[in-house]
Amino acid sequence: MGLGKSYRDLLRYKVRHVGIRNTFHVAYLDLSEEVFYRLARRFPSVAISPRSIQVECTTRCNLKCTFCELSYWTEKPADLEFENLRKMAEQLPKLRRVDLTGIGESLMNRDFFRILEFLKSRRIYVTLNDNFTLMSEKTARRLVDLEVDQIFLSLDGATKQTYEKIRVGANFDKVIENARGLMRIKRETGKRRPEVKINTVVCLTNYNELPGIVELAHEMGVGMVQFVNVMTFESTTALKTQQVMRSVEESLGAARERARQLDVVVKAELFEKLPVQQCDFPWKRNFVTQNGYLHPCCHTTQTGDRTAQNGRSFGNLLESSFQEMWKGVAYSALRRKIRQGILPSECQYCPKYVGRGDVPAEGGSSVGSDLVAIGRAGAAPAGAAAMPKVAVVILNYNGKLLAERSLNSVMRSSYANKDVILVDNGSSDGSVEYLRARFPGVRILEVRPNRGVVGGRNCGFREAIARGCHYVLSLDNDVRIEPELVGELVAVAEADRSIGIVGPKTYADDGSQRIQCAGGQIRYTQNVSSERGSGETDRGQYDRIEDVDYFPGCGFMARREVLEKLGFLDEGFSELAHEDTDFCMRAVRRGYRIVYVPRAVMWHRGSATHGGYSAHRKYWEGVNSVYFVRRHGRLSDRFKYAFFAGTGLICALAAQSLRGNQKAVLAKARGIWDGLHKPMA
Ligand code: SF4
Repeated sequence: MGLGKSYRDLLRYKVRHVGIRNTFHVAYLDLSEEVFYRLARRFPSVAISPRSIQVECTTRCNLKCTFCELSYWTEKPADLEFENLRKMAEQLPKLRRVDLTGIGESLMNRDFFRILEFLKSRRIYVTLNDNFTLMSEKTARRLVDLEVDQIFLSLDGATKQTYEKIRVGANFDKVIENARGLMRIKRETGKRRPEVKINTVVCLTNYNELPGIVELAHEMGVGMVQFVNVMTFESTTALKTQQVMRSVEESLGAARERARQLDVVVKAELFEKLPVQQCDFPWKRNFVTQNGYLHPCCHTTQTGDRTAQNGRSFGNLLESSFQEMWKGVAYSALRRKIRQGILPSECQYCPKYVGRGDVPAEGGSSVGSDLVAIGRAGAAPAGAAAMPKVAVVILNYNGKLLAERSLNSVMRSSYANKDVILVDNGSSDGSVEYLRARFPGVRILEVRPNRGVVGGRNCGFREAIARGCHYVLSLDNDVRIEPELVGELVAVAEADRSIGIVGPKTYADDGSQRIQCAGGQIRYTQNVSSERGSGETDRGQYDRIEDVDYFPGCGFMARREVLEKLGFLDEGFSELAHEDTDFCMRAVRRGYRIVYVPRAVMWHRGSATHGGYSAHRKYWEGVNSVYFVRRHGRLSDRFKYAFFAGTGLICALAAQSLRGNQKAVLAKARGIWDGLHKPMA
């Protein structure tokens, strides 16, 4: 947002309503913030301290408005405590402007005036939204005495009937009387602040009253009316005005005309969505919930599901430093997406901006339909070239139906610049003909004879590099990915060049909805490594982006240079198991990070090709475990492994004998023996 003509008009309006001194102050704040914003956008790694912040004052409210997420909540209401606000302000030494607006009615917070006094004593510009139901004469006088800078009166109807239908529990006449009272006190005391404006949320109930709201503003001496769109999430879609867009535009046109006659300024942000690149909120605004969670703006939290949203926040300002969160991988990834014109998944309900879209819109289609290339993997749409090219390499062996399902999910991915390669590893079930007929745009690489899991994957990776890809996503044929997976992985990887490998949250594709893997850890116990969260119910315990030790080969994405520097997977790991662990370990030794991205989600059936506790699988696990330990383990790791492998074999023998499957345990023992004698590459 630049400082253009409409901004100059705004300044003219300000001079009339709050005087030259206050206007100069606002212009100075805007200008310095614009300079800061441009610098921060241009040099993302530079440490900054924001000049403005929006803090939610409370989640308590005396009303139940039809479009407010609070009306659909089950969470216990709570206030922002003064001490917490002070702690937050201390983290932001350059703070010059605070917007005390969130959901909830600010005047219900017992610490409200203490917070105001503290902010004003620091000469901070304070703005807030209020429903004016609790604006007694005494309260209004205190606000005028404190010279709060700006108050938006939330007025969603020009008539008692409409207003009270939306603002359930409020009394229209009382609200208007309270607003007039505040304006009168200003006149009597000769104070120009608070500057009062009207904020109207336009929905199906009130859209034909827009001219009436302008008239009401004029009668009360309010100089500006702002019309904004209703936030639509599941519970409020019925209030959307898109279906009567023409009528809303006519009403808005009449409101503008009336405003011109009455010298009232109208600002409207309704249907025209701007390109997401223009969004400056994650730089200029930052929204902190009453309990300290940091989000790019308040729109990302208003979804009727605050608990889930807090899990997706960038952290808590009362627990971590702002600088850590600002420079953190998650926030950097979101800002990077916005710079690239991709609407981040956090912003899927955004009423202001629309991106090229890595999130599916309502009805399952992508927000930016030009990014969807179902069945045309090779044909990247216009604009895709700006995004890193990702090769999706799917390994298939005698699983044409599974591979079809997997390919369908990849084709539905909203990430545009992708190149899909299916490696058919010596199948004899007619996979190649079957899949070629159904996915003509997919590159099908026929590997004959079967080169095993490691050799097969490497063939695909080499093909991907030859085709000029920046990243390679490795998948198995029994994996289904969510449409945002590729975009989420790329965004995190692009945020930091030291991130070499990224991986998703994987759920078991068996109807249990349980986590299968949230990244892996190397422990040198009987299986050498273990997958975090395996078999657990997802309660949000793995919802942070964080470093892990490895990802299984069925789902990870590697930077091109990592594959090139490491020389692909080590084919010394025959068949399956631990080639992925080894690959990640070698990447870490080269200084790369392995990062888990919880917003990238996939579903994995598992063991579809090699069976569960089968002799074949267990034999190769044994061979490769020992090979891995010999290559990477320190002396203490080797002892640890020897102990756990020995006791593990005894326990497994007891358990599997009951199932008549002792053959698999003996195969593992043989594998361990063979692994010990296998020559090191
Ligand atoms: S929700 Fe909208 S305004 Fe907020 S950061 Fe996302 S794109 Fe920007």
